[in-house]
Amino acid sequence: MNKESLTRELFNEVMVPNYAPGSIIPVRGEGSRIWDQEGREFIDLQGGIAVTCLGHTHPGLIGALQEQAGKLWHLSNVMTNEPALRLAKTLCDQTFAERVFFANSGAEANEAALKLARRYAWEHYGEQKNEIIAFKKSFHGRTLFTVSVGGQPKYREGFEPAPGGVVHADFNDLESVKQLISKDKTCAVIVEPIQGEGGVIPADPEFLKGLRELCDENDALLVFDEVQTGVGRTGHLFAYQMYDVVPDILSSAKSLGGGFPIAAMLTTAKVAASLGVGTHGSTYGGNALACAVGQKVIDTVSQPEILKGVVARSERLQKGMMEIGERYGVFSEVRGAGMLLGCVLTDAWKGRAKDFLNAGLDEGVMILVAGMDVVRLAPSLIIPEADIDEALERFETAVKKLTAA
Ligand SMILES: *Cc1c(COP(=O)(O)O)cnc(C)c1O
Repeated sequence: MNKESLTRELFNEVMVPNYAPGSIIPVRGEGSRIWDQEGREFIDLQGGIAVTCLGHTHPGLIGALQEQAGKLWHLSNVMTNEPALRLAKTLCDQTFAERVFFANSGAEANEAALKLARRYAWEHYGEQKNEIIAFKKSFHGRTLFTVSVGGQPKYREGFEPAPGGVVHADFNDLESVKQLISKDKTCAVIVEPIQGEGGVIPADPEFLKGLRELCDENDALLVFDEVQTGVGRTGHLFAYQMYDVVPDILSSAKSLGGGFPIAAMLTTAKVAASLGVGTHGSTYGGNALACAVGQKVIDTVSQPEILKGVVARSERLQKGMMEIGERYGVFSEVRGAGMLLGCVLTDAWKGRAKDFLNAGLDEGVMILVAGMDVVRLAPSLIIPEADIDEALERFETAVKKLTAA
């Protein structure tokens, strides 16, 4: 099949229509730059949706992948392997965790977290303690269990019957949790420290502290979905460290592989004990190639100068976006942390986030949206400052044209 026939139109002919990809087809990347089939260059502030945390074709990641590729790719969990053991040990050393379960995607890490929470309550307190409290607007993945726990009904619509035992409270509203939580029924509370897909909405520190206390009072497990906020995204290795609230279970994916599929569920030894032999599993979970790449990602991102760099880059990007927002009257607020920012559209521009994305593409800058009212940025954690400045210039041109039209 020749290259010329690999077009955007072909997508509609051979792919299930659940996505609506942009008009260009990128073919090559380096750092925070991407080139499409026509050789047009873009600055990447999408980061593969908070995944390519070290940019594209990072030499360290290529090295880790190539080295492992020449040794051993896959065994399945009939055997363990050195990269998986090494990465699990590193994650335990660097976090609250004492035990790790590997999976391949965020949804699967959450699936494991939710199953573990149910199983733990079942073992320690009985089968009636099975209710999961989640939050409106939250996003936890696209499996049937995780769309049922997620707080966006549109992702569940038409796929019912959904698994039961899930209730939704209001994010950043402790009172709404108090009304739902009980010692008899609640097995877990699951929350994103910063709601990503829901609009880049940070949790109030008091809210997360309050959830920790409520969970303790009601013998419920606190689960942090850090699929989007984890692995350096906020300027901390995990966002719970920024909030200083320790969960019982934490899910990680996206940036964990820097572009290679891998996910992990972290927990304590006491809680982990409820997933005994045979209770859960994954063929690819702990794959040697994935873990070798994940190792390089964690070793790189956890360096203090990298994490400090995220904070400096964040300030630069926030300031630039706020200035554009004020100059053209398009943003009312820029929120989030580190390299996960949400620019909230003013009333005059509400519902038009996608227009900003398309206008950006025309000027050579790739951005994301989070819903229809928020422009989201989730670039590489090591994006060069010069690329941030140039991306801001390009984005300003895009906004200027959009607002003049
Ligand atoms: C992306 C995301 C998920 C789902 O991850 P997949 O790898 O797409 O399954 C779950 N939770 C949060 C917070 C996410 O941002």
